[in-house]
Amino acid sequence: MSPHSVLEHVFGYRSFRGEQETIVSHVAGGGDALVLMPTGGGKSLCYQIPALLRDGCGVVVSPLIALMQDQVDALKELGVAAAYLNSSLNQDEARDVENAFISGQLKMLYVAPERLVTPRFMALLKRAHIGLFAIDEAHCVSQWGHDFRPEYLALSLLADEFPGIPRIALTATADHATRTEMIERLRLEGAQKFVSSFDRPNLRYAMVEKKNARDQLLTFIRREHEGDSGIVYCLSRKKVEDTAAWLRSKEINALPYHAGLDVSLRSRNQQIFIRNEGVVMVATIAFGMGIDKPDVRFVAHLDLPKSIENYYQETGRAGRDGLPANTWLAYGLQDLILLNSMIDNSGSPDMQKLVERRKLDAMLGLVEATACRRQTLLGYFGEESQPCGNCDNCINPPKLVEMTEAARKALSCIFRTGNRFGVGHLVDILQGKATPKVKEHFHDRITTFGIGKDVDESGWRAVFRQLLARGAVRLNESGHGGLELTDAARPLLKGETSLFLRERTEKFNYKGEKGSE
Ligand code: ADP
Ligand code: ZN
Repeated sequence: MSPHSVLEHVFGYRSFRGEQETIVSHVAGGGDALVLMPTGGGKSLCYQIPALLRDGCGVVVSPLIALMQDQVDALKELGVAAAYLNSSLNQDEARDVENAFISGQLKMLYVAPERLVTPRFMALLKRAHIGLFAIDEAHCVSQWGHDFRPEYLALSLLADEFPGIPRIALTATADHATRTEMIERLRLEGAQKFVSSFDRPNLRYAMVEKKNARDQLLTFIRREHEGDSGIVYCLSRKKVEDTAAWLRSKEINALPYHAGLDVSLRSRNQQIFIRNEGVVMVATIAFGMGIDKPDVRFVAHLDLPKSIENYYQETGRAGRDGLPANTWLAYGLQDLILLNSMIDNSGSPDMQKLVERRKLDAMLGLVEATACRRQTLLGYFGEESQPCGNCDNCINPPKLVEMTEAARKALSCIFRTGNRFGVGHLVDILQGKATPKVKEHFHDRITTFGIGKDVDESGWRAVFRQLLARGAVRLNESGHGGLELTDAARPLLKGETSLFLRERTEKFNYKGEKGSE
């Protein structure tokens, strides 16, 4: 059988997508492969078809139990002898699968990584006839990946123990550091690399400064997406419900979705969204896994995603049909402070906190970017590109204004108050507001009191944000949004570099309302 006839007769598809065919031929021929392909790109076929073409059973390592079960069910539907081994099976069930595996009755076996590397399972593997190993979600082996799984580390032994058997590692997310570590730790130095483009040319990227985010969202929907299907992501369950109710009161057909809702209501809302046109799903990130609705015309974020990976995945749910779709994000300093304190209070190991901070910094860099959004986004995934002409920064290049002097005042205000206060208080001092808190700390007597009356409050917030984005300032350990200077503040303070900010557009500031973040 040829790859193409398997594609057609087993899976019922007419043609391969992107690099699928090259990858399939390479692995079916016995080669090792590292596959980087965006979510929805069609990674599964890259190991499923070679497994069917080769003698023996394809062993797939996957960390996601639900996904494993879905895939196995789908394969069985297609008449493929597939099974999985994970903690959801009882002992008898597991034994049956193992027996089928050793006696050569299976074409594909999905296994959780922690089970694969046990001595017992290793012994089983030695007795079975194996056609290939597929390592799904391969970024889990990297500390720099967003979900490091220690049990993946042991997968390096597949290279030693089964030298003649091809291995294919797959992932949808790998920045440069992750990729390097993945190759090293999975011993894939000799593997051929297949890197698909992460570009989604039909998506337009836009990010706006939060003023009154709900109103901004409503304007965006009314102006560009009347009657369209879309997803609005919020960080908290409460905000999901409030926003959905508010949009309904404005005659937008919105429904809430989050993990705290009753299961039947949740699946009802999901079905309504999938089956109908013109429904706006307001959701936490719990929504979207496995949702394959082709005609989602926009994805909006009312809160900052915690990483570029998240942002990419969530926005990626728009425009699956290839037709133009919009992504829109409203962003404010409060988001950053909130996400940072969530990292601080997560109880995660320090190493993980460090990784999460780095991811958040990169996200902030994208939001504050003055160059092409797509170029910045793709650059994060290690892909070079030209300015796209289809993002907010390309369409309306931000005008830059010099804010070096203001930046210096802001930095000096942080320094004079001991590297411990948050933006609100610092802005009060700069603007010369003798609030009770200012008086209590005698901050009305320091030299920076009132030196920033020429810049309005949201102007000052933009300055602080930009300083955070450039790493001249960071949130201190307190977890309360206190700011402190870093070494990178020095050149600015000494006047060796300048700071340019996007000129703020007042487009979204309705009726002269004061911005609330
Ligand atoms: P990934 O694992 O990369 O996120 P999947 O392997 O789950 O992607 O594939 C995403 C969707 O695309 C699935 O519904 C799959 O059936 C479909 N698909 C993959 N390859 C093809 C193809 N060559 N032709 C048509 N549909 C395909
Ligand atoms: Zn662009």
